[in-house]
Amino acid sequence: MAHAGPQTRHVDLQGRTLLPGFIDAHGHFANALQVVGWANIQRPPAGPVTSIASLQQVLREHVASHPVAKGEWVIAYGYDVDGLSDGRPLDKADLDALFPDNPVMVIHNSNHGAVLNSRALAIAGYDASTPDPTGGVIVRLPGSTEPAGLVMETAFLPLFVHMPQPSEEERLAQFDQAQRLYTSKGITTVQDGATVAGDLGLFQRAAREGRLCIDLVLLPLVLEVPSMLRERFPDFLGKPLEMPQPALDAFGQYRDRLKLQGIKLLLDGSPQGKTAFWGEPLLTPGPNGEANWRGQPVFPPEQLNESVAQLSAQGLQMFAHCNGDAAIAMMIEACRKAGLKPEQDHRTVIIHSQFMAPGQLEQYVELGLHPSFFTVHAFFFGDTHLANLGPERAGRMSPMASAMALGLHCSNHNDFSVTPIEPMRMTETAMTRRTRTGVVLGESERVSAEAALRALTIEAAWQIREEDSKGSLAAGKRADLVILDADPTATAPEQLNAIAVVATLKDGACIYGSLEGAQA
Ligand SMILES: [Zn+2]
Repeated sequence: MAHAGPQTRHVDLQGRTLLPGFIDAHGHFANALQVVGWANIQRPPAGPVTSIASLQQVLREHVASHPVAKGEWVIAYGYDVDGLSDGRPLDKADLDALFPDNPVMVIHNSNHGAVLNSRALAIAGYDASTPDPTGGVIVRLPGSTEPAGLVMETAFLPLFVHMPQPSEEERLAQFDQAQRLYTSKGITTVQDGATVAGDLGLFQRAAREGRLCIDLVLLPLVLEVPSMLRERFPDFLGKPLEMPQPALDAFGQYRDRLKLQGIKLLLDGSPQGKTAFWGEPLLTPGPNGEANWRGQPVFPPEQLNESVAQLSAQGLQMFAHCNGDAAIAMMIEACRKAGLKPEQDHRTVIIHSQFMAPGQLEQYVELGLHPSFFTVHAFFFGDTHLANLGPERAGRMSPMASAMALGLHCSNHNDFSVTPIEPMRMTETAMTRRTRTGVVLGESERVSAEAALRALTIEAAWQIREEDSKGSLAAGKRADLVILDADPTATAPEQLNAIAVVATLKDGACIYGSLEGAQA
């Protein structure tokens, strides 16, 4: 009230709850632009699919509402074999039956792979004679080398070059709908957590044209940095990760709501896809039935060490995707070799920090690394982790209470489009760590509602160096706010996901819902 002036408008929230706008600590805004045109084949509660037949039905309905010509791609997202009641995975024959003349890509819920039909496999050039590429998996039909349909990691990533890209105008037209996915959940700062060269110009144009209503934070993917530099600095002849000064200057400042924050490194795959890199073997076979499977790293350690040394020497903030304890150990070792220390305030973020080995959090403290956790995994994939890892290792997933006790800055994310944008489910799972079947994973790692909310607000702001302007309600900070219809700190965890967003404000302007609704 001390700050109120003649222009100040008073709004009585009538018992509703005002919080700082939520910050997307890790996710993929580029996916939001895409999924608005793809079929949602997630299992409940995120989607409708419970069997191969229901998945086929969703594809039929999608094509009825988004017609495709012969030869055009049909794309679906959110495939989860554990959500199928059939007792077997989806394969190419299930998709060939529906679409003999169209390539089909059913993207795995890890976003690290997809099930392809025969047309798509042919376009990719995969047949019985194709060996698995380094760092990738082509799953085969039982008893043969013929591809079954599912391809993962480096067998999946090159597929996108075969797909016709929508025009820049078509993609710009999706920005409103894509941002609404976030504003409807109270998110006022969103991340594109692995920006590719082809998208950087699109995001910059969208910003210039005033199409962003929320702040968009970009993390260029390390592999894409050389092409981004070549495009913008054709005369530059330095090493690929050594940036000319104007490129370095582009980091850390918003321009028209767009900010380049740091560089994204990718060390392993996904635990539910069994492509994370673990120190000890899984209790279940690998993606191709391998015994003693413990996954594999995306890069050899020498290459990672060199990237970390070059990026840190230039003062670039690093965001490293590490799911398994062996990938986490590789990153710790690379940071140690590069001489990182907490006093440098480098704020290196280990995205996921999912299956940490004992002692690794203490190494984070020693080097100044901070985790962005993924607690909704307990709900969406927790039962799968129990089967693959057993209760002790599965119970160590996203160790938020231990990390907070050590004073680390912990954020929490939903890695959209891997899981739906649901800040309240993130809060719930940080508090309960309960799986779909009701098992609690690592009871001692449960945190309070206040701690869970800090991970979505002030700690997420800290990780992108915005704690002075965002993440708490304080005079002088940006008026990035969300109004909820109930108080999450006074709601039973099981009821949290039913809390609705009444209004979302960015810099004081209402961008979702209405203040009138809040007053009613
Ligand atoms: Zn991600």
